[in-house]
Amino acid sequence: MVKAIIAGSAGEKKLLLGNEAIARGALEAGISSATAYPGTPSTEIIEAIAEVARDYGIYVEWSTNEKVALEIGIGVSMMGLRALVAMKHVGLNVASDPLMSLGYTGVIGGLVVVSADDPNAHSSQNEQDNRIYGIHANIPVFEPSTVQEAKDLTRELFDLSEEFQMSVILRTTTRLAHSRSQVVFGEVVRPNREAVFHRDPEKWALLPPYNLAKHRDVLVKLDKLSEHLSSFRFNTVEKVDGDVAVVTSGVAYNYVKEALEELDLALSVFKLASVYPLPRKLALEALSYGKVIVVEELEPVLEWQLKVLAYEEGMKAEIHGKDLFPRVGELNKELVKAGLSRALGIRYEAPPAVMPSVELPRRPPVLCPGCGHRSTYYAVKIAAQRLRVKPVYANDIGCYTLGFYPPYQMADFTWSMGSSIGIGLGIARFSKEPVVAFIGDSTFFHAGIPALINAVYNRTPMLVIVMDNGITAMTGHQPHPGSGVGVFGEEKPAIRIEEVARAAGVKFVEVVDAYDIIAMRDAVERAIKYMREAGEPAVIVSRRPCALMVLREKRRRGESIKRYTVMKEKCINCGICVDRFACPAIVREGDGKVTIIPDLCTGCGVCATICPAKAIREVEVDE
Ligand code: SF4
Ligand code: SF4
Repeated sequence: MVKAIIAGSAGEKKLLLGNEAIARGALEAGISSATAYPGTPSTEIIEAIAEVARDYGIYVEWSTNEKVALEIGIGVSMMGLRALVAMKHVGLNVASDPLMSLGYTGVIGGLVVVSADDPNAHSSQNEQDNRIYGIHANIPVFEPSTVQEAKDLTRELFDLSEEFQMSVILRTTTRLAHSRSQVVFGEVVRPNREAVFHRDPEKWALLPPYNLAKHRDVLVKLDKLSEHLSSFRFNTVEKVDGDVAVVTSGVAYNYVKEALEELDLALSVFKLASVYPLPRKLALEALSYGKVIVVEELEPVLEWQLKVLAYEEGMKAEIHGKDLFPRVGELNKELVKAGLSRALGIRYEAPPAVMPSVELPRRPPVLCPGCGHRSTYYAVKIAAQRLRVKPVYANDIGCYTLGFYPPYQMADFTWSMGSSIGIGLGIARFSKEPVVAFIGDSTFFHAGIPALINAVYNRTPMLVIVMDNGITAMTGHQPHPGSGVGVFGEEKPAIRIEEVARAAGVKFVEVVDAYDIIAMRDAVERAIKYMREAGEPAVIVSRRPCALMVLREKRRRGESIKRYTVMKEKCINCGICVDRFACPAIVREGDGKVTIIPDLCTGCGVCATICPAKAIREVEVDE
């Protein structure tokens, strides 16, 4: 959890992350509700709001998934209140069903949907450009360029949302979400509206008699908004003499400014915070220049719209964009300098890439020491060997995705939330080898349950192993419906995964301690035999709290932490602990002998149980 950094009075200046600035902007807008599913690079928005939510009377939660988070936001808006909904870019895919209808219905209370996109796919399965979702869903899209603007724009978008009765997408990118800069605070508005359900079946019911009219209405609204946005204060023009204009948005604006300065160029710059719809008058003004250079990350969203407008209006501007700048990955100052130089026929030599003086060894990402996922993988592998089967390993999104890397290599595919079971269903229909799907606890609640129900209902034999570490670990330990705590750490009724599986109709359900390799191995063997004989799915819940969370709690309580050590005289140097089990706390020394790095060891003790020579034992260590 972050500190309550977004608290403070009007006029105060604080160094905030882009995400914290969005949270502060939402406070200044007087939101009543903030909902989200955690996902990098969006997570800190809700974390920051949660720190102050009780003081301001804001409802805040980590929702089961992004669709639910958005649906709650829509409901709050129907009550005439303001709601913020946050998610990472791929989360909007999950929320896209209600989103597409939200474009038609519009809103009452201001509703801002933050989509934190991840150009370069730093921590994501793709780098989709969610500005296109706005076009697809008839929902306006805005993009801040600086951290200060992230706060101010968030606040004002709630007003705009209510004025036009449209929800809006606030699109950020990793660079902005995780940049830190000084922000000047405005006034916080405590939610003080009376909640009243706005009963209006014609507005809210997406039924055949109304749907086409709604579609027509939203197109008219978008046209009106496009006119309005030409005087929107976040769309700015920095004019200089000359016949070349640069049109840009988001963080790309900052690269443009730096590039122009370093190239000693003076060009007019149109910075568009509203990327859809385009501010019509401003766009026409930009197109009145002889040459228009569009600088934007990922897809040519501004470029496409400008080209269409130029064609419709018979304007002859030479429009450049993705012919100069890459469509893949993040932009940076050098790429922008190179592109601008090409467009203007300037000689420019990019500086040679700076090579670090020390070549760091390339290491695949690894599961943490003491992680229960490692022992689960280890046990499943042994079970498969003993049964002489070569399972198709279906993997999902979470820490356990790291099972993809050696030595485990137990992810034949990893796709999107819940897909290990869903795609596994398709494979299991035709595969002679068993399908073993791994899914985390949070991901199970997020999107795994419907696919599991499908497996039961359609009698699909597959083994689903839910790796339950009690928390949404990968994104920084946010609670989920199985955690038994809420966003403030308050007690909640934990929903047990095994009970959900049984209620869904799974007849083979076992819960195993993830550290107990023998028990896990035996359970997996029983489960695979069961699913083959019965032709039905089996579920094993592999349970152990996240090792990092346990360590943190122990340290907080001042408890001692166990450590393990290798007794060199007993070690037969078989390499099982280091090469096959691969706990990162166990390494080989210069003489080839294995040793345990005490500072990395979490004291889980699993290595002691797998060592055939019984050469690993517990030691007392004072913290
Ligand atoms: S006890 Fe063994 S397996 Fe567990 S963290 Fe320490 S070295 Fe790794
Ligand atoms: S598993 Fe045991 S015997 Fe084998 S290398 Fe590790 S400590 Fe030595």
